[in-house]
Amino acid sequence: MISRLRASFSSILSTEQGRTRLATTFYSTLFAEHPEFRSLFPAALDQQKHRLFQALEFVIDNLEDQDRVLGFLAQLGRDHRKYGVEGRHYSASARALLVAVQDSFIRAIWTPSLTTAWSELIELLLHTMADAADNDDLPAAWGATVVGHQRLLDDLAVVRLEADSPIPYAAGQYLSVQIPQRPRLWRYLSAAIPTNPYGQIEFHVRRVSGGWVSPAIVNETQVGDRWLLSSPLGGLEVDRAGGRDVLMIGSGTGIAPLRAQVMDMAMKAENPRVHLFVGGKYPCDLYDIETLWQLSLSNPWLTVVPVSEENENPWWHAVPVPDEPPGLHRRLQGRLGQVVARFGSWADRQIQISGSPAMIKTTVYALQSGGTPPELIRHDPLV
Ligand SMILES: Cc1cc2nc3c(=O)[nH]c(=O)nc-3n(C[C@H](O)[C@H](O)[C@H](O)COP(=O)(O)OP(=O)(O)OC[C@H]3O[C@@H](n4cnc5c(N)ncnc54)[C@H](O)[C@@H]3O)c2cc1C
Repeated sequence: MISRLRASFSSILSTEQGRTRLATTFYSTLFAEHPEFRSLFPAALDQQKHRLFQALEFVIDNLEDQDRVLGFLAQLGRDHRKYGVEGRHYSASARALLVAVQDSFIRAIWTPSLTTAWSELIELLLHTMADAADNDDLPAAWGATVVGHQRLLDDLAVVRLEADSPIPYAAGQYLSVQIPQRPRLWRYLSAAIPTNPYGQIEFHVRRVSGGWVSPAIVNETQVGDRWLLSSPLGGLEVDRAGGRDVLMIGSGTGIAPLRAQVMDMAMKAENPRVHLFVGGKYPCDLYDIETLWQLSLSNPWLTVVPVSEENENPWWHAVPVPDEPPGLHRRLQGRLGQVVARFGSWADRQIQISGSPAMIKTTVYALQSGGTPPELIRHDPLV
């Protein structure tokens, strides 16, 4: 059954027409049958459509690993509460999704057994999301006030907020945020500090050129702005039971979830050894290296290795490159993944990678080529 589901889904994905048809038919059927649902979604549905594919792809790729699939769907259900989506909305979506799958498939080879297989899968998908949405005790979203906005580079800002009440996230998790300058456009950001009883939270944001939300965060955020933050997501964490030391690799603002975990570990008496590689194109892209050096100086289990592709800062950021404090690892030159892989196989470590989707993919590839087994590597979804 799994192989038939996979084959039918990949036949839909194999053509641009199939992809467009699936997402378009799903949303048009849903809104035709339930016009009141339209207001729950942003005006432009491009990102929603993309995420629908990614979610289906993830589920279908991982059907053998039920725990993973159910955990993912439950997080998705909790996350969708930020749009005002509740359990009852999911049952209404089931028919639209089945119609969309059927409609996108080549009709001549659609069979009754495929209808059964897809109906069962859609039932599982939507039931799990509905249950998780209905049974979550946490608020759907927290209000938070911006208390600091520091532009460290032309295209990068650190934003500090105080939530109306503490948000119980685990160090390493990310949250969905909505800013007043871009209503109803939610984006994921990783918390750069562990949770605390005062509701303080910090995000590191890089401006993506042509993006809707990140330029507004970097250029327009003001102290006093009110943000909405929704349920914590993701599972980047140090496995303490397995006994393995840790390799963390972060590029640009991708250091945020690693930094939060290292700060959290610094409050514990015993920790595994952590090698933290921090990379960027220019030395100035290692914008938080001083904090990481401070953490390393006071925590002997932590080794920080700075890496940059260029040795000097660019002309548009004419600031001297800081020297590492005595005794700490000197900065290495090269592409982050390749530099880490130069050290050989990391087969004895638990590994976390954080950064842009392109950086994560190339780093995974470099590590695997160097003999590191892929099952040791964790990263957030490449949305
Ligand atoms: C789990 C997770 C955690 C994240 N944590 C952070 C974080 O801590 N800090 C942070 O700054 N960002 C983080 N992001 C990325 C963030 O959610 C947004 O995708 C990013 O800020 C761009 O949003 P936008 O609205 O400006 O661009 P959009 O309007 O969404 O996209 C505009 C265009 O830029 C492309 N694009 C989007 N992101 C990137 C990218 N990173 N590199 C190159 N092209 C891109 C899109 O494909 C699209 O073509 C995280 C993403 C995920 C999935």
